[in-house]
Amino acid sequence: MTAQIINGKDIAAKKRLEIAEEVVRLKDLGVTPGLAVILVGNNHASRTYVTNKEKACKELGMHSLLIEMQEEVSEDELLTKIAELNETPDIHGILVQLPLPKHIDEKKVIESISPLKDVDGFHPINIGRMMTGQNAFLPCTPYGIMVLLEETGISIPGKHVVVVGRSNIVGKPVGQLFLNQDATVTYCHSKTNDLPFHTNQADILIAAVGIPNFIKAEHVKNGAVIIDVGINRNEAGKLCGDVAFDEVSEKAGYITPVPKGVGPMTITMLMYNTVKSAAESLTRD
Ligand code: NDP
Repeated sequence: MTAQIINGKDIAAKKRLEIAEEVVRLKDLGVTPGLAVILVGNNHASRTYVTNKEKACKELGMHSLLIEMQEEVSEDELLTKIAELNETPDIHGILVQLPLPKHIDEKKVIESISPLKDVDGFHPINIGRMMTGQNAFLPCTPYGIMVLLEETGISIPGKHVVVVGRSNIVGKPVGQLFLNQDATVTYCHSKTNDLPFHTNQADILIAAVGIPNFIKAEHVKNGAVIIDVGINRNEAGKLCGDVAFDEVSEKAGYITPVPKGVGPMTITMLMYNTVKSAAESLTRD
């Protein structure tokens, strides 16, 4: 079998058209969705992510505000800035680019963002709401994965989903979203015994490990759906995922490539969440 490619770039482009239409509708009602991004320090990768987020906002006709802070900024100063943005009416989403310098407590920072503006979906209130199936901002990468499957027409109820990786931003929430859609979910991690035994049960396999080409053909059942979340550099410095694409695509039914797979969906869902927040602000005010 040669797997069908799930093209995240095309699906993201389609979603962005829908988001742009919603932005026009909201603007007609007098609200321009606004996203504030706080960048602390000068991490090169973080700066690239932030630039891409600003660009996406502009392309969609949204308001974007970039707040840059020195590496040495105090935790108090950062918390004060967030408190101010929580009260700023034209800002509907607040994102603090992670990682933060070591002297700042990330958990405290995330919890200081109003859950109503937590468009990253990292606040414990949004995580709790997601777990209990209530209206919430869903974390962007897991949400993007669900949209990829929905747009590809892959049915989820009753499927066995195996998630390799249990981070708070990808592995744990994506498993929960599948459970919410009636999948049977298995989580694997670095202490899992006999990983291939588990991954070979997967109808849908999510690789969120952060190790280049970690998932091989031997890990994969014939015809499985393979979602590769990894963004890594191989020994030659080339961008690659967590899945050995060439050998796995010979066996899988569907597969996401890297790049142009999960990656483009993450920023798209961030835009989606910001626009959702702006729409919800209308019914609250
Ligand atoms: P983390 O490093 O936070 O988590 C990695 C997970 O993989 C951990 O749960 C770890 O287990 C598990 N793991 C490590 N080694 C093994 C092993 N040998 N066998 C089984 N499990 C193992 O990473 P993230 O979740 O933040 O990111 C994962 C990947 O996804 C990275 O490449 C990252 O760059 C990428 N990413 C991509 C995004 C996108 O937009 N496409 C967004 C976010 C991340 P344990 O818990 O036991 O340590």
